[in-house]
Amino acid sequence: MNLAIDLHTIIDLSKGETVGFVPKKHLVKALSIDTRKLVSGEHSVFYALQGEFKDGHAFIQDAYDKGVRAFIVSSLPKTLLKQATYILVKNTLYALQAIAKHHRDQFNYPIVAITGSVGKTTTKEWLYYFLATKFRVIRSPKSYNSQLGVALSLLELNQDCDIALIEVGISAPGEMERQEKLIRPDIGILTAIGTAHLDNFSDVTELCKEKIQLFAHAKKIFLGPGLNNRGWSFLKGDPVELSEYTNDMLELPFGDIASKSATAIAISVATYLKVPAQNIKKTIPLLPRLAMRLETYEGVNNNTIINDTYNLDLDALKHSLEFQVSIAKNRPRVLIIGLHDKNTSILEKIYAITQPFQLDKIEVVYLSEEPSFTIENSVVLIKGTRKANMQKWAMQLKLKKHKTQIEINLSALRHNLLQYKELVDKNTKMLVMVKAQAYGSGLIKTAQFIEKIGIDYLGVAYADEGVELRKAGVLLPILVMNAEEEAFDDCIQYKLEPSIYSFEQLEALLHHLIAQNKEAFPIHLKFDTGMNRLGFSSTETRKLIDVIRSQPEILIKSVYSHLAESDNRKDPSFTLRQIETFTQICNQIQKMVPTPFLRHILNSEGIVNFSSDQTTMVRIGIGAFGISSNEIWRKNLRPVIAWKSTISQLKTVEKGESIGYNRSFVAPQKITIAIIPLGYGDGFRRILSNGKGGVFIQGVFCPTVGNVCMDMIMVDVSHLSVQAGDEVEIIGQHQGIEALSSLMETIPYELMTGISQRVYRSYINEE
Ligand SMILES: *Cc1c(COP(=O)(O)O)cnc(C)c1O
Repeated sequence: MNLAIDLHTIIDLSKGETVGFVPKKHLVKALSIDTRKLVSGEHSVFYALQGEFKDGHAFIQDAYDKGVRAFIVSSLPKTLLKQATYILVKNTLYALQAIAKHHRDQFNYPIVAITGSVGKTTTKEWLYYFLATKFRVIRSPKSYNSQLGVALSLLELNQDCDIALIEVGISAPGEMERQEKLIRPDIGILTAIGTAHLDNFSDVTELCKEKIQLFAHAKKIFLGPGLNNRGWSFLKGDPVELSEYTNDMLELPFGDIASKSATAIAISVATYLKVPAQNIKKTIPLLPRLAMRLETYEGVNNNTIINDTYNLDLDALKHSLEFQVSIAKNRPRVLIIGLHDKNTSILEKIYAITQPFQLDKIEVVYLSEEPSFTIENSVVLIKGTRKANMQKWAMQLKLKKHKTQIEINLSALRHNLLQYKELVDKNTKMLVMVKAQAYGSGLIKTAQFIEKIGIDYLGVAYADEGVELRKAGVLLPILVMNAEEEAFDDCIQYKLEPSIYSFEQLEALLHHLIAQNKEAFPIHLKFDTGMNRLGFSSTETRKLIDVIRSQPEILIKSVYSHLAESDNRKDPSFTLRQIETFTQICNQIQKMVPTPFLRHILNSEGIVNFSSDQTTMVRIGIGAFGISSNEIWRKNLRPVIAWKSTISQLKTVEKGESIGYNRSFVAPQKITIAIIPLGYGDGFRRILSNGKGGVFIQGVFCPTVGNVCMDMIMVDVSHLSVQAGDEVEIIGQHQGIEALSSLMETIPYELMTGISQRVYRSYINEE
């Protein structure tokens, strides 16, 4: 961003009320919405935007510390910072858009806005390639097509270019009008429009009208192939240009409809902007292939699966079928459609679309039915309504290279975190504990997801875990609970924030910091308020603060403690005492040190069962994974972890024969057993031997027979009709983590963190 605008112009444009110190003049060069990306904020204005997890207002201090002195807010903080200007507005996003619009109006080169239900990014990128042969082009970054993203893209406009390409997402009704006012595109591109949706039919004309509002003042509008016969009559008289491709138009290096139509549009627009034909021709072979939208993988029974369950658009079905043709060669092509009710009109529409493709087979699956067909050696395209849950189905058809695996549902994790977020005060920060491989869910993937959705802090047990996270690119602040002296240099190098719990440890850290010439290194003071584990005792507070006050090398980022029985709601007295002691300690420290620090004592159960208006951060662990001993609360949570395997082999055991090591089980009659590649080496404890535990197959409990081995178990399946390869549930819908852990005579924490690292982790994200 390279602005040069006076603060007073911003104040005027924001239509806000100023509070605090207002300088006569102040040059603004950038607008900031994320303090992590701020280096020196002297010439920045910070916009406190409202996110799902985060409220920008909580980062004002941080921005201030980085030099920012002007803040756009929708509510004022309790105490105003010195020399700071607050501009109070109703909606901080709208205020940001106002500046973006003002900035956009400084430039009168053409702005091309691109929207549509599919193909926006490809079209924009390819148009960029054509135009760049003649012009200096600026284009919005990928996925910057939301209300906020478009504003940020516009703020990037500068004099050193001749044309700008802005991608605009299909958003909620009514939003296009706002986007139009903001962008005022000179040229409009509508790539495609989802006129029919598997889940509901929409009125084509209404949809078109909504989208086209974006181009209300455009001099020229380009429509993607096929859009001419889509009820555009209301556009008559508008300067509409249709971008049609013909097969012999050009020698394209790709054959699918989606790529062809993107090229057709890009060529039409480039030609309109007077890019010479020979430039276009030369550029075509250089066009980058964008990542295929369709997920394709090896399936069971030698099938290739095209998973298109994320897109419910019926028009996109054509593109998917085209893609299927392009990879099928001579193999049979099958379409599986999942519907949630018997809707014949949708089916007719589907058949009309599929008819020209001459599929070898079309299977329709309804929500309630178990699929009863087998498909082999084919290229299978899977699509369906959201309610029909076809995504789960598509996953089931995936060839499982890992017979035993756990599945982590990231959408459920996000859901659970949002539930906790709703329980705490809106300014309370959230730290998610990812110690012990994020409770067994896998350290890196889980932490990366948590960072992406906007959680404030991560917590780990050891510095090594923090180093691993940093190496994987995680930037969130990380609290290290057991930071040992050997790890201090790593903490310094990788910006990990150690927990300090003893004077010896504090002294050792100071030595390292002094040796490395560090100042204000963030630390977290850990107090023991009743757990009798690591931590300073409350009687040491004074002495501790005396030491810290004389040491500029360190900065108290937070003070915290841990509850011993936060799940005990029957007798809360111990916990209340702990919270009380903790509050006293914090208040005492705050009297002695000038800088504010975070206070945190509540873990997952603590958040649900107790509250303390004094805490400014909470530490969530097991609750994020859907586990709570509070039965009422648990109903709000979704399970995150499923543990699955498959049957390796079936065997008949005659009456009197024994099974497994030590021959601990002798068949009382003839039985059928299934052998499953799962043992105590995976975390399926030996205590579960001989019927003490078991697994679920076809929703039926199958007890273990014989002892659990290191890599295998045997279970009784006499009453079932099963085959090798059938799915086995160890943790899932029928056997939850709580149930299995109690069979193991332990707690969910131990079960989850005890699932061995050799068990493959796969991640599901429904969005
Ligand atoms: C593990 C841990 C947590 C998280 O506890 P849950 O009960 O899993 O929510 C919080 N704080 C500390 C200090 C921890 O060690």
